[in-house]
Amino acid sequence: MLNKYPALRPDMSATMPRIDPFFVARPGFGAHEVVIPCKLHETNPANLTPVQYANLLVAYRERIRAFSQNDLWQYVQLFQNVGAEAGASLAHLHAQIIALPMVPDAIVAELSFAAKHHAEHGRCVYCELVEKEGQSRTRIICETEHFVALCPFAPRFAYEFWVMPKYHASHYEQTGDVLLHELAELMLNLLAALDVVLAEPAFNSFLHTSPLRTNASSQYHWHWEFIPRTARAAGFEWGSGCFLNTVPPEQAAEEMRAALTNRRS
Ligand SMILES: [Zn+2]
Ligand SMILES: [Zn+2]
Repeated sequence: MLNKYPALRPDMSATMPRIDPFFVARPGFGAHEVVIPCKLHETNPANLTPVQYANLLVAYRERIRAFSQNDLWQYVQLFQNVGAEAGASLAHLHAQIIALPMVPDAIVAELSFAAKHHAEHGRCVYCELVEKEGQSRTRIICETEHFVALCPFAPRFAYEFWVMPKYHASHYEQTGDVLLHELAELMLNLLAALDVVLAEPAFNSFLHTSPLRTNASSQYHWHWEFIPRTARAAGFEWGSGCFLNTVPPEQAAEEMRAALTNRRS
């Protein structure tokens, strides 16, 4: 459904006259939707059933596919804010979808880094990451047959983790139902472990995937990033773009693994 308080609106003109050559502006043109994954009141996504979580992952995929039918849209940003400190204005669990008429800077930067790595090494940087992390295993939290969750080598935030396919895939919207069910189970386990380790923290999660209507790429690899809100970006972070993090990713991964083991036993 459409967001009641949309950040961007599809009923605006996609362009605006350039009044000043110095001050460049864009209209608030876009589409902002909300997905509500459960009918009954629930505030913690870890409490969704595997079917509800899989349905959310499938809904995301279907909305990307639908937006890709319209040339106006270049990118679809999927994200979830859980908890007031993570920016959630409604307690009832919800996820958000924003379709954009441009590719956002974060994706441009990742695409360009991935292209550079591919040019220099002949490989997808994310596939290489999965392979190398699989050898040392110190930052791997858990995995299934097709997906892996890991704490990145240089996390910006304590307990930040990423989830990605172990096989190469550049476009999330091409993932089949069976795989999304497998991914849902993995994510629910991760969220339950996070709740144990950080006592139900507020967090943000978002998908990074290829821009709409682009060809399959051997360079880029879709992934979800999860950012628990354990600390606030402060003056140093805003000023320098560098992030201070006091929890090494190896320790974060170990604590998450222990929480998963305790759940199973
Ligand atoms: Zn890859
Ligand atoms: Zn990313």
